[in-house]
Amino acid sequence: MTDKKAQNGPSHQEGLRPLEAISKPQDAQGRIASAVREILEAVGEDPDREGLKDTPTRVAKMYLEIFEGLYEDPREHLKKQFSADQHNGAVIVKDIHFYSMCEHHLLPVHGKAHVAYLPGGGRLTGLSKLARLVEGFARRPQLQERMTDQIAQGMMDILSPEAVLVVVEAEHMCMSMRGVRSPGSTTVTSVARGLWQDDYAARMEIMSLLRA
Ligand SMILES: [Zn+2]
Repeated sequence: MTDKKAQNGPSHQEGLRPLEAISKPQDAQGRIASAVREILEAVGEDPDREGLKDTPTRVAKMYLEIFEGLYEDPREHLKKQFSADQHNGAVIVKDIHFYSMCEHHLLPVHGKAHVAYLPGGGRLTGLSKLARLVEGFARRPQLQERMTDQIAQGMMDILSPEAVLVVVEAEHMCMSMRGVRSPGSTTVTSVARGLWQDDYAARMEIMSLLRA
């Protein structure tokens, strides 16, 4: 398990994609479609045959859907907040299913994210908003480590909690379909922030609840 607890500051300082939205390039769909047609020709296929003639456009639309998280700032979802003065304990949301795309191979990554936070000043967000946060970062060309970090950072930025722990378990199709071919193996990443970054015992307690 990678425990990236020593990271501070915005991810883009480490040469990674920012958390913010980017603007969609002009004629994105047409350009993707041309590129897909080129791939089909390059592998020796006939892109004009019956079964393939609509494929470039179909794939282009699909890519724009799969990558739509690029054009939003997923942190915006967390701005819907409510306060619960009586609640002092941790909030834990387990088994947030997501689909992403590995940026090294453009093959699917799917799995579950588990998130926990210790609310700061009684500030809470809806459970569905945390799922939207995960989905927004998943729908980008991604690395599992970065996605885990972005989810944690997004929660720190908007909820100002005392502590955050994010655990992501995922299967990478680039490991299952090709290369080492180890279907069913999962990669687990975790990021702790705030109090749980330094308090090992507290982090382990939350971790065991998250993965139970
Ligand atoms: Zn990959």
